[in-house]
Amino acid sequence: MENSSIIKIENLTKRFPSGNGEFTALHNINLEIGKGEFTGLVGPSGSGKTTLLNIIGSLDSPTEGKAAILGQEVSSLTHRQSAELRNYHIGFIFQTYNLLPVYTVFENVEFALLLQKNWTAYERRKAVMEALDWVGLTDKAGSKPAQLSGGESQRVAIARAMVKRPEIVLADEPSANLDAKNSHHIVQTMKKLNKELQTTFVFATHDEKVMQYLDRIISLKDGMIEKEEKQNA
Ligand code: ADP
Ligand code: MG
Repeated sequence: MENSSIIKIENLTKRFPSGNGEFTALHNINLEIGKGEFTGLVGPSGSGKTTLLNIIGSLDSPTEGKAAILGQEVSSLTHRQSAELRNYHIGFIFQTYNLLPVYTVFENVEFALLLQKNWTAYERRKAVMEALDWVGLTDKAGSKPAQLSGGESQRVAIARAMVKRPEIVLADEPSANLDAKNSHHIVQTMKKLNKELQTTFVFATHDEKVMQYLDRIISLKDGMIEKEEKQNA
């Protein structure tokens, strides 16, 4: 476990300025996540799930304690280094898909590769079409986001997160805007990619439909880890 921990959080506290004082969003979190895990941060709204995902994604840093992602201490990275960590190693999936409306499905997925150096146009095309194949959307490559259903939009977002074959994918409430059928479909797609590519997935969710697929559930309450369970082992 020690060697394969790609996310290692120690005594992490996160406070935000609030009014005249401070609000503690995360309190003394200790957590290790290994390569290939399919894990969820679960808890009610306001429990700190997004705050913790943002720190794992090096979009934010701890107030106290440590967060090492792929061996790099988040709070010691320069702006450029944290952008590089995200662009090469971490994929993001959001509740509202966050597709760029003026670009095609193909271009939305390709965008993730344009943030990296050294890809030829030919290599990008091949990688994008493969990623669209993973999510069953090769026939929508030329469509615009407005022409897609919610489920299709989230599958494009999965392709965009996965096209660079990142070590880690962070998914913040990915099923919150989807119906039951599409919720199952997108999590099954992510589970398949998790198995095939050994990608580590971390979800923030309070959706039972998502939770049933997780290998490990970390329950947050008021910014603290309340309990941890393994399942499906
Ligand atoms: P969750 O994703 O579980 O709903 P969040 O991590 O978004 O919870 O938020 C946890 C708590 O921290 C909430 O009370 C929220 O209002 C607060 N919070 C989150 N981000 C900020 C911020 N940038 N500034 C101030 N308070 C914040
Ligand atoms: Mg949230």
